[in-house]
Amino acid sequence: MYKWMHHGLMCYQTAQAQECSEQSRCRELAKASTFYRTVYSEIEEVGWEHLVRFAGDLTSLSFRVLDSKGRVHVMEIQLDKTHPTCPPSISADVPYLFNLIWSANSRLKDVVQQFTKHLEKLQTFWSTVDDIDRSLWVVDPKQASPAVSYRQVIIGNDCCIVFSINATDPRSLPECRFIGPGQIVNLLRNRWRRNSKRWIKDKQFLENLECLLETQLPRSPDVEKNDQQVECGICYAKSLPVDDELRDKSGTGTDYTCDNTSCKRAFHSICLMDWLRSITTTRQSFDVLFGSCPYCSEPVAVKINTVKK
Ligand SMILES: [Zn+2]
Ligand SMILES: [Zn+2]
Repeated sequence: MYKWMHHGLMCYQTAQAQECSEQSRCRELAKASTFYRTVYSEIEEVGWEHLVRFAGDLTSLSFRVLDSKGRVHVMEIQLDKTHPTCPPSISADVPYLFNLIWSANSRLKDVVQQFTKHLEKLQTFWSTVDDIDRSLWVVDPKQASPAVSYRQVIIGNDCCIVFSINATDPRSLPECRFIGPGQIVNLLRNRWRRNSKRWIKDKQFLENLECLLETQLPRSPDVEKNDQQVECGICYAKSLPVDDELRDKSGTGTDYTCDNTSCKRAFHSICLMDWLRSITTTRQSFDVLFGSCPYCSEPVAVKINTVKK
């Protein structure tokens, strides 16, 4: 009798425990599926064509955003399981991030929108560094990420200047140091200090640099090579045919390069646009086609040209 009661009690307890754990599992599942449902519908709002990668449990998502200059940026978003209660954390290849404005009613599209706005703020910075990379003899970094704000540039006489461009105020006088033989470095340092008042924000960065250093800066030996026309990876020609129908693109060289630094294939944007249109997985959002590079399969995005072929 005692044995039976004891057994019965045990059964009851086990059953209760089982019920409890089942319930909590269900609750967990329900919670998880609410999370899935929420995130899924929020991705839809942003647009699936912007989604580059995601973790199986949707707590980590990467979105591709095109800025007004046609540069492709990828933003990674880490979501808390309580989303949207807790703000997501974000990371991207930019010199500095923005403070996310977040409330319990915020959604992923708000994050993308704030990131897009932030990219516009950084345009002057990127056009300044692009200008430097194009015209000066940059020895470091060799392949700069869009987040890197320093440049080491050869200025002649076995000397280098290393400066850091202020990403929040790219036209301002940069902080710098000189590398080279002591005597010349001293001379340069004094010259820089003496002339620093002559730095004018409205002038081009390079013009200011040459003004303060009182010298014309040498160009990169690669510049000439870079200026030479590159073949298009699709039509294999350097220049497009001279044709009135191509309007401003008539006879022009390649104008699109794959962002993947180990690929860097050049294309005519018109050729890439035609190619992307022939691929069924290509997605279109407004006037931009999103697809993958024909050579390396990394994401590419081209603004649709209104030129008719
Ligand atoms: Zn082409
Ligand atoms: Zn590529």
